[in-house]
Parts: sequence; structure tokens; C-alpha cells
Amino acid sequence: MLASAAVNILFASEMEKLQSWLPLLNAALPHDRITTDADEAIDVALVATPPKGILKKLGRVRLIQSLWMGVEGLLADPDYPKGVPLARLVDPGMVAAMSETVLAHVLDWHRRHNQYRVQQRNREWTRLTQYMASDRTIGLLGLGELGTDAARRLAPLGFNVVGWSRRPKQVEGVKCYTDLSAMLPQCNALVCLLPLTAQTRGILDQRCFSLLKPKSCVINLARGAHVVKADLLAALDSGQLSHAYLDVFEREPLPQDDALWAHPAVSITPHTAALTEPRTAVPKIVENVERARRGEAPLNRVDFEAGY
Ligand code: NAP
Repeated sequence: MLASAAVNILFASEMEKLQSWLPLLNAALPHDRITTDADEAIDVALVATPPKGILKKLGRVRLIQSLWMGVEGLLADPDYPKGVPLARLVDPGMVAAMSETVLAHVLDWHRRHNQYRVQQRNREWTRLTQYMASDRTIGLLGLGELGTDAARRLAPLGFNVVGWSRRPKQVEGVKCYTDLSAMLPQCNALVCLLPLTAQTRGILDQRCFSLLKPKSCVINLARGAHVVKADLLAALDSGQLSHAYLDVFEREPLPQDDALWAHPAVSITPHTAALTEPRTAVPKIVENVERARRGEAPLNRVDFEAGY
């Protein structure tokens, strides 16, 4: 591709709404063509949950840019064009939204608002024990873009913050681990911000819950398949866990008859912990379109072997 040549950009997503993106993309890339027609000669594809069969049509595509931070669906798609680089979206607006969600849930549990809501339903006036933030240790599974930002925002509130990653990490104010069984016994609350891979599927299971401090809280904001649901329900029913905040589920929307809906120790949100924010995402996408135009590798390229 010539460094100055205009590119054809496909927008293919069943979940992201084109009308939220098109004015921003057109303004930022005025000489390029944005289309939803995969039959045109596409240079760059912007995708998140692309309609079935679309990826198969992309003959000369140079870059597939995800509109989401999680890419396990694209990696599992048998139609993914071999050898084409895939870039994750690292969207500052989405990172900020996720940290706000983490803080909201941690503080809801720490200040016991989850229990006061139940008491209110029963018109019950009982003061529960107050803890200081320094009495609590919050563990983060995943110290990537999301986990690191959340950890950095929890620490100044006075919480002890620990985190787990695959490779050794250093994050100021955070005790970092690569050995999960060494980290879990310290945690009163565990926040999952891992990518879904063969290694992390089902990680929130009975073994994990049994290593946490008694009556811990689990916050899963990553993917539903990180949780073994039967183990979670058993741990909540036995009182081993005190509360679960769940944003993501193996089946979405969560089916009407799912036991999680009515469980008194479960708080549910409909996969809204952090939505892509086109106003902050578009500059990141433009950066990668320009790289593709110059024939350079994209930023935030997915490692197919690692699965994220
Ligand atoms: P990221 O930057 O790729 O970071 C992933 C972190 O997980 C890294 O610290 C990585 O370790 C660690 N990790 C991966 N595999 C591991 C393993 N086997 N053992 C230990 N640590 C492991 O990802 P991110 O941008 O923070 O996003 C994380 C996930 O959040 C996404 O994949 C997506 O599924 C989810 N998400 C959910 C929502 C929502 O609304 N609910 C929104 C956005 C994203 P290294 O640092 O050593 O690589």
C-alpha cells in the first residue's frame, strides 16, 4: 500500500452501532472510505462480533482492528484470515470506565451497601461492623491495561492491593505475584480482569474460592467462562463467599431462569462494566490505520500463541 494511498475500511459489528462511530471515523480519516460492504476490496477491518462469514471475504486485508479489548471470539473464529495481524483496542475511555466499575463494586462491598440493601427490603435497622480500607486486601487477577489501572486507583484509597500476572510485573503500590496460590490467601476481595484463554477458563472455581479469606467477595468483570458457576453458587450458599458481582456470563443475555438472577448474594450487570467509548477509541484506531497505510505493524498486536 502506498503511504499516501486512501484505504477501504470495513466496519463489521453486530454489537457496536455504526452511527456512533461513523461521524468520528469520517472526520478523522477524511480521505479514506468507511463501508459495511465486505465484498469491496477491504484494507482494514474494524470488527467486534462480526456477522458470520464476513471474515472469509477479506481477501487483501492488511489489518484487523478489534473494537473491543477482549479478542477470544475472533481468535476462535475458523474464518479468521491466516497471517493477518489482529490488534486489540486499548481505549482510554474504556479503561477509565472499568476502573470506575471496580471502585464502585469494591466500595459497595467494603461499605456493606450490598447487605444494607437486603436489610432495607426487610425494614431491618442493624449496624454492621465497619472495616477500614487498610483492613482489606484486594486481589487483581490480571495486571494488564485494565488490572493495572484499577490497582493504581484502589491503592490511594488505603486498600492493600495485590495482583497476579503471567510474567513478573512491577506496579507501584501493588504487591505483584506470578504464583496464584501465594496471592489468594491474602485476599478479602478478588477482581477478575483476565483475558479468556485455555489457561484462564474456569479459574474462578472451588479451589480458588477455598484459598481466599473466609467470606470474601468475588468480582468478575472479564468473561463469563472464567467462573465455574456451580462452584460459585456452592461457595455463596455455604457462606464461604459473601458476595459476587458479575458482569459477564457464559450465555448472554443471562437466561431468565438462571439461578444467579435471584440469589441474594449476587449483583448482576448486563456486560456493561466498560463499554467501548468511540470518542477516545477513534484516535487509537486512526493510529493503527496510519501504521497499516505505512506498512507497519499495529500497536497492541495480539499474540495468537498466548491467546490475548
Ligand atoms: P491485557 O492488557 O492483555 O492484560 C491481561 C493480563 O492478564 C496481563 O497482566 C496478563 O499477564 C494476565 N494473564 C493472561 N493470562 C494469564 C495467565 N495464564 N496467568 C496469569 N496472568 C495471565 O488485557 P486487558 O486489556 O486488561 O483486558 C482484560 C480482559 O477484560 C479482556 O480480555 C476482556 O475479556 C475483559 N473486558 C471486559 C469488559 C467488560 O465490559 N466486562 C470490557 C473490556 C474488557 P502478562 O502481563 O504477564 O501478559
